[in-house]
Amino acid sequence: MPTIGYWIKNLDDDQFLAPQEVAGKLAPDIAKRVVAYLCAGKLYAQYRGLSWCRFMHGCAKAFMGSSELTDGYWIWPEGLVHYVEVHRVALPEEFLADALNKLVTRNKTIELDSDIAFWVNWCSQNQDPVFRKQLLAARQTPPQEVQDALIAEINALQLKYGLSEQLCLCDGCRERALQSQVVCVKHFLGDERWERGWRSGFHSLLYDF
Ligand SMILES: [Zn+2]
Ligand SMILES: [Zn+2]
Repeated sequence: MPTIGYWIKNLDDDQFLAPQEVAGKLAPDIAKRVVAYLCAGKLYAQYRGLSWCRFMHGCAKAFMGSSELTDGYWIWPEGLVHYVEVHRVALPEEFLADALNKLVTRNKTIELDSDIAFWVNWCSQNQDPVFRKQLLAARQTPPQEVQDALIAEINALQLKYGLSEQLCLCDGCRERALQSQVVCVKHFLGDERWERGWRSGFHSLLYDF
């Protein structure tokens, strides 16, 4: 039974996609039908940890669930319904055919590829080159002197301006703006400058992509 719907776990995970790489690819009417299908799954396994939405937009953790569901053939994490409903992620054609009740002759190799191998293979074929490039860049740690220079510059800027009570005006940024400036210290320095001087964390990579 093939398992689908697992996403990247950390910066060094090459096995799974970030859902950002395949977001917005299901038509809304199709997504709606797939959501109904996913919700009708039967409990397959219950786990302890709760999953979190990789889009970092503050989805309640509990909402993402901690169990796996099945239709008797496919297995998926409970949280997959959120990715389809809210982020309309693409899913393997073979699964969609079942979910949308299309009659297809199932590719025999899927049955042999039990468990996660089918999904891992699908992930490898659906990577977004721009995201992959950013992932590789995020893994690079710049030399210590580059980081030190950036920290010195940040400190100097914060000392010069101070932090205001306002949030940074850049899209989606949650940092406080510098006093008398409209942006945070990161955006004051410029994204590119920041990324080069800093190994961008996993969460900021997902947040920004
Ligand atoms: Zn979400
Ligand atoms: Zn900012």
